[in-house]
Amino acid sequence: MLNDGDSSASLSSSVVIVFDIDGVLSDARHREHHLAGRPRDWAAFFAAADQDTVIEAGRVAVLEAMSGAEVVLVSGRPERLRSVTVDWLARHGFPPLALHLRSDSDRRPAPVVKAAILDQLGGPAIVTEVHDDDAAVVEALRQAGYAVVHVTRPGEVS
Ligand SMILES: [Mg+2]
Repeated sequence: MLNDGDSSASLSSSVVIVFDIDGVLSDARHREHHLAGRPRDWAAFFAAADQDTVIEAGRVAVLEAMSGAEVVLVSGRPERLRSVTVDWLARHGFPPLALHLRSDSDRRPAPVVKAAILDQLGGPAIVTEVHDDDAAVVEALRQAGYAVVHVTRPGEVS
């Protein structure tokens, strides 16, 4: 709880811009076929995450956002992918960033998980912009009052 208090205190005086990773910073299309069947093969989908190419428009957007805000990454990836994710980000030219992942046992839908994390970060008053490619996440967060940049294809927004 001490850590939670410290982080919210450090964020309270600043503006936060949140970025999703898959489909926003990393191009996951080469592994999306693992999710086409039922049940979805999430294990195979995540196992190939280190092979993703970087979405340059996303990388540039992060670097630009950092000039006026604290950038926080919020991904539905499980915690067990943290080291793979941190290594991938460093390899593709991202500076060290706060990274919120889903706990390994968390099976809640992505919109629920992400809304809860954004609430912890301070809600719409603090989190002034969110970049995500998942239409369900975008809709839920907009309804919750967030300004959301919807990345519709790698590098394109609506
Ligand atoms: Mg995504």
